[in-house]
Amino acid sequence: MDADDEREELRSLVAQLRTNISARGRSGLLGVAMTTGTPKKSAASAAAAPPALLPGPPPQPVTMKSSEPQEPQDEERDPKAPRGAAGLQLVREELGDCRRCKLCKTRTNIVFGVGNPDSHLVFVGEAPGADEDAQGEPFVGKAGQLLTKMIEAMGYARGDVYICNVLKCRPPGNRNPEPDEVASCEPFLKKQLGAIRPRMIVALGKFAVQCLLRDDSPISRLRGNLRTYEGIPLMPTFHPAYLLRDPSKKKLAWDDLKAVNAALAEVGISPPRPPAA
Ligand code: URA
Repeated sequence: MDADDEREELRSLVAQLRTNISARGRSGLLGVAMTTGTPKKSAASAAAAPPALLPGPPPQPVTMKSSEPQEPQDEERDPKAPRGAAGLQLVREELGDCRRCKLCKTRTNIVFGVGNPDSHLVFVGEAPGADEDAQGEPFVGKAGQLLTKMIEAMGYARGDVYICNVLKCRPPGNRNPEPDEVASCEPFLKKQLGAIRPRMIVALGKFAVQCLLRDDSPISRLRGNLRTYEGIPLMPTFHPAYLLRDPSKKKLAWDDLKAVNAALAEVGISPPRPPAA
């Protein structure tokens, strides 16, 4: 690693720390000790970096000022705009029989989202696959079944949380979403999240995480580090389809979900049922 790389690495670590601290401040999670909350370095860069570039000691546990739930601030949203089911209904109506991008030509169904419109927890994936396109519901295929198990392990039922994707239509052959498709569709995700105002977003997989965070760092480095999207705390983790391909990563994903529960607990939010150990 040369001096320019080291400076770039340092800049990236400082930016991640700033975002993490500001995310916790905005969400009332400031001071929450999260075992996975320190930006991670890849094994290669950690090995190569001199000690001076390491991000200092991990955050120390700090007592929360208040365990009362605090509303996240959202300066841009009209405070009178309907929330919950009514808000989502308006977003769905605005989306209509969407023809804003080329995916409309190949889709079977628009896959808008499913679950509790008042949930404090929203899971965001990449885009519908074949099963989702056929059924009009996100995460109903094999990866979806694993996601449901992950949600249940956290102490929730699938219907307790809200599940959606960055794209509402299936890219043909499950290819990666293209920039014009994201540009057309992401405003609707933003509006969905604005209507739900969850206390936490779990972003599933490289594409959703990198797209929402505008950060092309590897998912292996992003996962487990609390960030924000539109002022809402966001936990990046692995996509369940990736976990099906590499089950050895399930433990890390579970660590991330336990960190989500821990962060929510700090602001007085617990799952309806006891989580798995
Ligand atoms: N993968 C996703 O990212 N979303 C789905 O809805 C299904 C599979």
